[in-house]
Amino acid sequence: MEKEKPKKFPEQKQNLPGDEHKMHPQPEIIRENYTGSGKLLGKVAFITGGDSGIGRSVAVHFAREGADVAIVYLNEDKDALETKELIEKEGQQCLIISGDLKDEKFCKEAVKKCHTKFKKINILVNNAAVQFPQGEFKKITSKQLHETFETNIYPYFYITNAVLPLLQEGDTIINTSSVTAYRGSEHLVDYASTKGAIVSFTRSLATMLAKKKIRVNGVAPGPIWTPLIVASFDKVSDFGKDNPMERAGQPSEVAPAYVFLACEDSSYITGQFIHINGGEIVA
Ligand code: NAD
Ligand code: MG
Repeated sequence: MEKEKPKKFPEQKQNLPGDEHKMHPQPEIIRENYTGSGKLLGKVAFITGGDSGIGRSVAVHFAREGADVAIVYLNEDKDALETKELIEKEGQQCLIISGDLKDEKFCKEAVKKCHTKFKKINILVNNAAVQFPQGEFKKITSKQLHETFETNIYPYFYITNAVLPLLQEGDTIINTSSVTAYRGSEHLVDYASTKGAIVSFTRSLATMLAKKKIRVNGVAPGPIWTPLIVASFDKVSDFGKDNPMERAGQPSEVAPAYVFLACEDSSYITGQFIHINGGEIVA
């Protein structure tokens, strides 16, 4: 991601989330031969940023494993409706909730809507984020700084606060960091800082909730082909070419890790991250 040329954006709003239905080629959401085996049967998942990219793929995998899903997204209604359709094709229910996660009141209402519909929440996936690449440190304006931190980390506190009273023994939280948290990023200093915060958040919350038998883990993706990338970078033809596998990953290669962390297969794992990045070794 870091070798791409950052887009110039005088007005930051232009860089807010892009639409998946406009991408070429279309990201792979789930492998055709991915066979569900009821790993999440009867569970309810709440996924932020579940309209597109990694979140959409996680939503569809969860549905194939037998879960009903609520997805929160900013304003990409077409993407969200397509995701809902994909989940219904798996024979599961999907609630779509549009709004701004920067607003704590909205976060509370979104969790309440999900709970009212499905009567429970078993899996929380914190995943929504924005990024605004800048070539020079001084170009990270305070407006950008607020946008990045208030979108990428504050809602982890707001949503977790609202979901926690509903979680029970065996339930799970999965957070979305980034390879940039571990190795830094010269173009994404503010974004990488929020992703580092998510690592510390995950480790701290995991320790706090271990006694309650609620596990908290995360995924740290490298370059994955999603709308976030198209919205952030001018030149995307070389995207992901600088890792050992010399290619970007697909959402379908990331989401199975969320299934693993959400289900009982990972019952002795908490406070950890799975690195899905084409072979870049990070500690
Ligand atoms: P994406 O754009 O498809 O998903 C991000 C979603 O976040 C958007 O769809 C949008 O609806 C939601 N969102 C953003 N701001 C919001 C707000 N204020 N309120 C509500 N929703 C909001 O992109 P993605 O690449 O799938 O990103 C998912 C996660 O993966 C992010 O946390 C991102 O940092 C992480 N990640 C992605 C990559 C990559 O290369 N794509 C690499 C490392 C980490
Ligand atoms: Mg989107």
